Amino acid sequence: MNEKIKAVFLDRDGTVIHEKPGTYLSDPAKVKPYQSAKAAFQLLKKYGFKLFIVSNQSGIGRGYFTEKEVNAVHARMLKLLKPAVIEEIVFCPHAPEQNCSCRKPKPQLGLRLIKKYRINPKQSYMIGDKKADVEFGHALGFKSVLVTTANGKNHLKKYPDLTPEKVASNLLNAARFIVQDCRSSL
Ligand SMILES: [Mg+2]
Ligand SMILES: [Zn+2]
Repeated sequence: MNEKIKAVFLDRDGTVIHEKPGTYLSDPAKVKPYQSAKAAFQLLKKYGFKLFIVSNQSGIGRGYFTEKEVNAVHARMLKLLKPAVIEEIVFCPHAPEQNCSCRKPKPQLGLRLIKKYRINPKQSYMIGDKKADVEFGHALGFKSVLVTTANGKNHLKKYPDLTPEKVASNLLNAARFIVQDCRSSL
């Protein structure tokens, strides 16, 4: 039996890169990672976490942009995040009303990564700025961290029943919680 890896799954918009709520990003020139992203990823790497991005890109299903444009945004993002390594980026291209089986909080995209990379859910975490991200993490058996960037603050207020294991003010503080938590649960 191979040893299973531990992972951090990340939401993209409003978590790793800046998001103007209510707008859809399709221009690679407008990609702007949060200032703390590189330090956060460096810290997580040091503690042996592999990083993945799981994103809902309903702008494709709504006809606002194409999958090709999303891939161009991702290429730009990965370049800006260097030397951090993101193992894989997966996304749901559907609009909510298409009722697909891959839009967060549905777990399908995450389950696929867990299987492909032999990820141990008990040692893994999800970071995101929305209710759907918190629920997605829990559906996978991960712990969830809600960052209060972008939509985070609103969702925390709007959904008082939401139970992330941690609320963090940004990505770096989310990473700090994770490395502390993983050591204390050894
Ligand atoms: Mg988001
Ligand atoms: Zn989908």
